[in-house]
Amino acid sequence: MPELPEVETTFRAISDFKGKIIKSSKVNNPNLRWKVDSNFESIVKDVRIEDIERRAKYIIFSFKKYSMLLHLGMSGSLRISDKSDNYFKKHDHVELIFNNKKITYNDPRRFGSIHLTEKLDAHFLIKNLGIEPLDKKFDAVYLNNICKNSKTSIKSLIMNQKNVVGIGNIYASESLYMAKINPLRSANNIELSECKTLVKNIKDVLKRAIKVGGTTLKDFYSADGSAGYFKFKLKVYGRENEKCFGCNEKISKVVQNQRATYYCKSCQS
Ligand SMILES: [Zn+2]
Repeated sequence: MPELPEVETTFRAISDFKGKIIKSSKVNNPNLRWKVDSNFESIVKDVRIEDIERRAKYIIFSFKKYSMLLHLGMSGSLRISDKSDNYFKKHDHVELIFNNKKITYNDPRRFGSIHLTEKLDAHFLIKNLGIEPLDKKFDAVYLNNICKNSKTSIKSLIMNQKNVVGIGNIYASESLYMAKINPLRSANNIELSECKTLVKNIKDVLKRAIKVGGTTLKDFYSADGSAGYFKFKLKVYGRENEKCFGCNEKISKVVQNQRATYYCKSCQS
């Protein structure tokens, strides 16, 4: 599933389209997590992309009147190709057609979405989002203040999009491992000094993942439509019963809120 670094990588791959005009669009199949607006093709026609930005795991295209809010869901990807390219892949839901290029949204599992809205900040997918993890506002004091009043586990707390956006299951496990904090601990037991270490590691892990993603950018341009998601070198996630890199203990796996959590019982306390 695309997490924040993958979405950031996708966003960077298409950011050159800022200022370009979408000549026309084509909805091949409107059935995504929410149905694509039936007016989509008539609205997204001869419109200039005033801005492209990433917010949490959303990529937002701003036109003069409307904003287009795109989420990659579990398996969505964007493919850039020449306009004349007739290559069509199964699950190509929406196409944005430019002067000589084309951006195609492909999503086999259909958990992604594309919305058009005139009031972006009030949109139900956007209005309750917390702050960005790479923003300066996300610091030890901010995290500690939320932790103090919460009995939920620290892992659930950092994955809650109302607190901070875009930390998915994989990077939550990785950050807690790097910070040597047990993911099952109650948030109100996490001290300020630990919040400091955790915040630093969340930022480091995300930045490293984005950096690795940057090196695979060329994949976005390949006509075969390979998504360009990268293999980030994971230290704990998916390594159940394998030896911890920090000690001789085997990595444990537990299920928290229906999500797999991986951690080292010895290194993470
Ligand atoms: Zn260990």
